[in-house]
Amino acid sequence: MTLVRAEPLKTILTTLLERAGTELERAGVCAEHLVLANLKGHDSHGVGMAPSYVRWIAAGKLFPNARPQVIHDKGAVMVVDGQFGLGAPVAKETIELAIARAKQTGVACVALRNSCHIGRIGTYGEQCADAGLVSMHYVNVVGAGPAVAPYGGREPRMLTNPYCCTVPRPDGDHIVLDFATSAIAIGKLRVAHMKGEPAPHGVLIDAAGFPTTDTNAFFTPGAGAYLLPFGQHKGGGLQVLCELLGGALAGQWTMQPGSDRHYGAAVNNMLSIVIDPDAFGGREIYEAEAGAMIDYVRGTPPSLGIDRTRVPGDPEREVQARRLADGVPIDDGTWRDILRAAESVGFTEAEVMALV
Ligand code: NAD
Repeated sequence: MTLVRAEPLKTILTTLLERAGTELERAGVCAEHLVLANLKGHDSHGVGMAPSYVRWIAAGKLFPNARPQVIHDKGAVMVVDGQFGLGAPVAKETIELAIARAKQTGVACVALRNSCHIGRIGTYGEQCADAGLVSMHYVNVVGAGPAVAPYGGREPRMLTNPYCCTVPRPDGDHIVLDFATSAIAIGKLRVAHMKGEPAPHGVLIDAAGFPTTDTNAFFTPGAGAYLLPFGQHKGGGLQVLCELLGGALAGQWTMQPGSDRHYGAAVNNMLSIVIDPDAFGGREIYEAEAGAMIDYVRGTPPSLGIDRTRVPGDPEREVQARRLADGVPIDDGTWRDILRAAESVGFTEAEVMALV
């Protein structure tokens, strides 16, 4: 394990992406996004994604300097094409448009389609919340074959379709509900696999539909183990909605077999609904009421084995405070991958280590 502080980690990632052909500013936005995901504790969507981005750029699947283009603008509704650009800057710029529009119209419903992997969705929710806005984000993932079965099924039909809903708080401690609709993120399963540990119970099924904890069977092509949705029929329902709203409505690209499953890079489509609480009138009353309710929830006596009752966003704030103080732990496999990707664009290990 390598412990790296956030600032040098950003510099390493920025240099890596810049040498892979990304303009400096866009490389910096992406590096910031990935390091923030690690700081928040979501290593599955942090700096470990950068080697894939470098590979997709080299393969001509990800166009690192492509800008999002508004292709339909109808008041509160906008459609933006991500042009298969680098996801973090593309999605950030799209959300800037959504924020500006929601401040004019009270609500904005913005579709982003054809963006390469946009990373941790909570970042876009936080971008809206920092502007004082509520937001909901339905996202699907396409460009590769399915790996997650629908509730009740024993064959995969989708990928990990994330959902996020964020509510702003005046003190900046926003409510950020942000998760994959699969029972566990693939990146977290990969960490267990690399350590030779079994998967948690209840997240994988084998080809016959029986529960399994064998991560080899998931990562070996054709071995026939698949992820389940979280929360049985409830998570399974949300997983399908992400496909229909993020995929079909926003992206016009779902995982149904008639659409392209072999693009060769992870592509996200996202429907964002951004709401200005001012449009409802009475922001002060709303904030006081919401604050009282959040305090009431946080004040619940904890269950056995739990230190305190939290609301969505609290765990990430706690990890961020620790990792800002101590540095970001990067597992050996991920660090090797980053060094290999760096080497492939002429950024030598010696140069990387000099930055650490
Ligand atoms: P997770 O299972 O860790 O759940 C995180 C959510 O649960 C957060 O909102 C967190 O605040 C809340 N939470 C956790 N513990 C809590 C507690 N004790 N009390 C109250 N709330 C609590 O998340 P995940 O499914 O592993 O997803 C990780 C990340 O992966 C997310 O940021 C998601 O956006 C991202 N993701 C992205 C894609 C993509 O294609 N771009 C796909 C899948 C997932």
